[in-house]
Amino acid sequence: MRILVVEDEYKLADIIATKLRSEKYNVDISTNGLDGLNNALTEIYDLIILDIMLPKINGIDILKELRKNNIESKIIMLTARSTIEDKLIGFENGANDYLTKPFHIDELIARVNVQLRSNINNNIINIGDIELNLKTSTIKCIKSNELINISYKELMILEYLMKNKNQIVSKEQIYDKIWGIDTDFESNNLEAYISFIRKKLKIIDSNITIKAVRGMGYKLEV
Ligand code: CA
Repeated sequence: MRILVVEDEYKLADIIATKLRSEKYNVDISTNGLDGLNNALTEIYDLIILDIMLPKINGIDILKELRKNNIESKIIMLTARSTIEDKLIGFENGANDYLTKPFHIDELIARVNVQLRSNINNNIINIGDIELNLKTSTIKCIKSNELINISYKELMILEYLMKNKNQIVSKEQIYDKIWGIDTDFESNNLEAYISFIRKKLKIIDSNITIKAVRGMGYKLEV
């Protein structure tokens, strides 16, 4: 799971990142609003911890811009201000949670875990003519009503591609997401997994395709 921390107080950003890494999350840090927005738009994060008072672009404007661009990462806002109006502005613009500074680092971690767990609890993902069931590890074609089992790794890769449908996802992003940062790149044969998934999609007669984009990665097309 990848998390972006957008926070201009270096010390706080560092404390948050260190703690999250100890919880096995992959963490990037941006220390100004412009950098944070660019990162959030170009990389794929499961969750973004977003400070409001930031140099260059403030957190609320970043939040609006991300939701406008259909970025669906979970977003937890951080702020020194704690008026109800501020919170409402955050929630109205698509923030998932809100934490007032100063906070205890363990509370932030707990909230991160809650957000990312609610992601997982949503067991069925529907895209195009297929239904991916995360609980039973099956994919079903709604059109043909055919069902097939998939392995855990295939499921994770397919889920990731589905959540980023019609976008190019790089091999590095998939490795990072599925195998984590400490992976020996060569040892995991991503191409083989993609080929298994393609075969299974064909067996159930789905019209979803996974295209290889030369030198860039893969794209699930609906
Ligand atoms: Ca700040």
